Amino acid sequence: MASEHKVAEVPNIWAVAQQQFDAAAQKLDLDDGLRRVLRVPKRELTVNFPVTMDDGHVEVFTGYRVQHNVSRGPAKGGIRYHQDVTLDEVRALSMWMTWKCAVVNIPYGGGKGGVIVDPKKLSRRELEGLTRRYATEISPLIGPDRDIPAPDVNTNSQTMAWIMDTFSMHHGYTISGVVTGKPIAIGGSLGRNEATARGAVYTLHQASTALNIPLEGARVAIQGYGNAGSIAASLLHDEGATIVAVSDSTGGIYNPAGLDPNNVSAWKREHGTVVGFPKAEEISNSALLEVDCDILVPAALENQITASNAPRIKARIIAEAANGPTTPDADEILFERGIFLIPDILCNAGGVTVSYFEWVQDMQSFFWTEERINESLKGIMDRAFGDVYEMSKLHEVHMRTAAYMVAVARVAEATTLRGLYP
Ligand code: NAD
Repeated sequence: MASEHKVAEVPNIWAVAQQQFDAAAQKLDLDDGLRRVLRVPKRELTVNFPVTMDDGHVEVFTGYRVQHNVSRGPAKGGIRYHQDVTLDEVRALSMWMTWKCAVVNIPYGGGKGGVIVDPKKLSRRELEGLTRRYATEISPLIGPDRDIPAPDVNTNSQTMAWIMDTFSMHHGYTISGVVTGKPIAIGGSLGRNEATARGAVYTLHQASTALNIPLEGARVAIQGYGNAGSIAASLLHDEGATIVAVSDSTGGIYNPAGLDPNNVSAWKREHGTVVGFPKAEEISNSALLEVDCDILVPAALENQITASNAPRIKARIIAEAANGPTTPDADEILFERGIFLIPDILCNAGGVTVSYFEWVQDMQSFFWTEERINESLKGIMDRAFGDVYEMSKLHEVHMRTAAYMVAVARVAEATTLRGLYP
């Protein structure tokens, strides 16, 4: 996007993920051997697979499934459909899943998948064909005890239904626990759809108490108006916060007097974009990050807050609903400027936590009420926030390094206890 400001070089996110790990390993004085083990993914699968398109021609797509670590349990992580997916991106996301599951202390390792495709250009039938064939190609890796995918950018509960059905067809019986984020009717969990945003809002509650910045009346800007961003907007609006700006891939809207998320969502459903929403000023995605607000919620893609815009960010709290929205250089600038950051592996862990509840319910064929799910989620998010906040105070490090320290220490302990085979 054109900008009047100097554009910072966007780092490779796999290098960023490793750099973040190195910083925590250093602080923890982690054994060199363990560092070498945890710095790289355990398994990486690349698949090139054919799909018959609606006009009869055959297209070949490339997809990945990476398992970073499985010391604490099966790999867990979403599947992303995006034209810019790379193996390095999937590696980074899989490593972040390892740390995320460890921060909230659920018994999973980290994995991630992706297919290089712009799903908006495919028909529903083509998308189903692509999903079923991709699921087949990665089926040697996945399974309820091995690796459990979930939705991510541009995939949803329907995608998960197709994967669950494909996997079940191969085995001859229904295996609902192979994916999470499924529709309720086939073993999905109540509360899963809202879980990422709800978890992020629970962490914001904790931060608001710690910093004495009340959520009621707080001015909030949200980048990305998909699952995480739009639901966070509604939940924060319900808390009495004022949503001053939101954006999606086509651009942003701004109204300092407040936007009603219900109306913005209705507009987006009708027009396919938040842009054009009446009684709001249009702003660019880069401008959205710098608007005058108390809380900034990046809920789109990686590398949005960089050394070039971090000095101009006005928010007092940044809640990373997205994965990897802030570069390490920007982290340091925000820390120096006293901006409190709730890092992705903590902030958006509500999604994987309710995925865990979904898997537990599937394995037991016993389904919980939404109240039980939300209460259990709150318990886990509050405890995780407390663990990370305490670590940040104890070692005088920013919340990202603290979250990594909590997570890496847990994974390192599991790996050490299990020992090195053979
Ligand atoms: P989504 O596809 O539902 O929504 C993504 C949104 O971001 C869309 O509104 C899209 O238009 C917008 N967007 C894309 N590029 C943009 C850009 N350059 N500027 C502004 N907006 C842009 O995806 P989601 O599930 O909401 O995921 C969003 C982020 O949250 C991702 O980083 C994802 O990894 C992370 N996350 C999601 C979950 C989950 O359960 N959905 C869990 C953990 C983390």
